[in-house]
Amino acid sequence: MSSRQSNLASTLHTLDGRSYGNLKQIRGRYTFGPVTVFIDRVQADPFASPSKVRVRVDRADAKVPLELTTERADRIAAADYLLRAGNEVLAKLDQRALILGRPGQEILERTNILIDDAGLEARLLVNLPARGRRILGHQAADILTRDLPEFAERLFLFDRWSDAPAGRGGNTPAPSAHGLADHVQLHRDQLELRSRLGEAGLIGFIGNGAILPRKSGDSDLPMTSSDAVAFTSPPELEHTVDLSSGHSVTGMGIPRGVTVIVGGGYHGKSTILRALERGVYPHIAGDGREWVISDPTATSIRAEDGRAVTGDDISAFINNLPSGTDTRSFSTTNASGSTSQAANLVEAIEAGARTLLIDEDTSATNFMIRDERMRALIPAEREPITPFVDRVRPLLTEQGVSTVLVAGGSSAFFEVADHVIALDAYVPREVTNQAHDLVGVTATDLSPDSGSDSPAAPAFTAAPRVPTAKALRPSSKTKTARAKGSDRIQFGREFIDLIAIAQLIDTQQAAGVAEALEYLAEIFDGRTSLTEALAEIEDMLDAEGLDGITGHRDHPGHLTRPRRQEIAAALNRYRGLNLER
Ligand code: ADP
Ligand code: MG
Repeated sequence: MSSRQSNLASTLHTLDGRSYGNLKQIRGRYTFGPVTVFIDRVQADPFASPSKVRVRVDRADAKVPLELTTERADRIAAADYLLRAGNEVLAKLDQRALILGRPGQEILERTNILIDDAGLEARLLVNLPARGRRILGHQAADILTRDLPEFAERLFLFDRWSDAPAGRGGNTPAPSAHGLADHVQLHRDQLELRSRLGEAGLIGFIGNGAILPRKSGDSDLPMTSSDAVAFTSPPELEHTVDLSSGHSVTGMGIPRGVTVIVGGGYHGKSTILRALERGVYPHIAGDGREWVISDPTATSIRAEDGRAVTGDDISAFINNLPSGTDTRSFSTTNASGSTSQAANLVEAIEAGARTLLIDEDTSATNFMIRDERMRALIPAEREPITPFVDRVRPLLTEQGVSTVLVAGGSSAFFEVADHVIALDAYVPREVTNQAHDLVGVTATDLSPDSGSDSPAAPAFTAAPRVPTAKALRPSSKTKTARAKGSDRIQFGREFIDLIAIAQLIDTQQAAGVAEALEYLAEIFDGRTSLTEALAEIEDMLDAEGLDGITGHRDHPGHLTRPRRQEIAAALNRYRGLNLER
């Protein structure tokens, strides 16, 4: 035990009963055996946002297996494991003042736990205790000089991990060597399966036995297995993938192209689509969606009336407005259902989406389809909207973008679907031939060589959008973007509404998006396009890790890495966005 430790403890004891502002002096670095405690930021008063502390252990002391913590992807999974285990350790210590951050069902890159070449580090928030505006020094000493170092030792010292020999596959309390190894391996297997979808011509995969429905509308936990019908693939779409770990997975492959999911109401259509939506992220064991794997760029597209749009080329869908507005660069502060869905779609493609996920429940009908009688009554030149049913094939042939679509209410998409899957009491069947027979279409009619797909002029011609140099500089020079829960980001004086961004997971990921917006503000110079800026931010994140996105050199706060699609989605909803020209 070093002298610094007694310093911190005795300082805190001396501060007991004094006014809160005096706590500032405990900022600094303290050693407790193998654990280094960093007190990076001390809250100004008991009601301010919590103080920031870090604990760090060197690799030589931690002895965490190198083979599980060397590769970048493994470090993400191992940090995810340690975050979950860390919450269990805190629960056992019964120390509520220390906040490590609670992850959801996904295995994601976060700042809560850092694994680097030198060691392991946990970033915590702590509410330093007070009575009124007086420091509770003895309690603060317990938290910072007893429980915090004990937390770090239990979490990071491999020698102290619980590993009863009978623990494998059982309920070994975390952290355990087996738990860590299994977690890292599951993540590797999921990443490998995702990377192999492309070569198999697939944009999605749902493993047999998967549990897709969730416990409730506001819970991401799996429905209890006695209630849920486990997924089974139709034989025609079944694939088996042998992974290099020796693990082999069998399930339904969703091929590139246009796939339509049909079936009666309540038969599980939206549940499948939502599982694919979340299949862009790896999931923890026991989630039920471990083997639901999507194209990592897959993006949900919905109608979102009322949103702002800045300079989108939506002319593939909307043209000849009675107002004469040019829809090749369309802006509005209050988009309609169809316009907002068109904007969401072209923006998703701009952000790199190669697969679109669309549910009739959240679509504008006039954006999706127009029936024969309506086409007869209203001549094409009087109807500004070219419905999605007329664009879904050019989207594939011109842009290489696949679509998975839920449509229980209309047969309109049978003619343009490569595959039709019918759900019957949650069980999928392949019904492509029946659907094609009903509308007199054959698979060859849909092949790119048939000619019917390729109009004289391409439908999608969007030019790159280039934000101005000041596009993301609202007013002050200080930190301007801040997540307010998972639904909103405050940006300067504006609020960005995130509620319709289905693949944005939680507050911590919204905080990641907010940091990304601040980073983008530095990139935009009036020449760099949106797409280039998004690529730049991804390159930086890949090279430097998530810490690189913040200006901080110590405690970055709790952030989760967002996809570029979600960063773009937030940016596109910013009402102050300005473009060149
Ligand atoms: P649809 O979109 O076809 O109307 P949903 O996907 O909304 O149907 O599902 C309707 C209900 O059935 C939801 O409450 C959902 O949780 C439940 N459900 C969906 N899939 C399953 C399943 N595999 N097993 C049990 N319940 C399910
Ligand atoms: Mg539905």
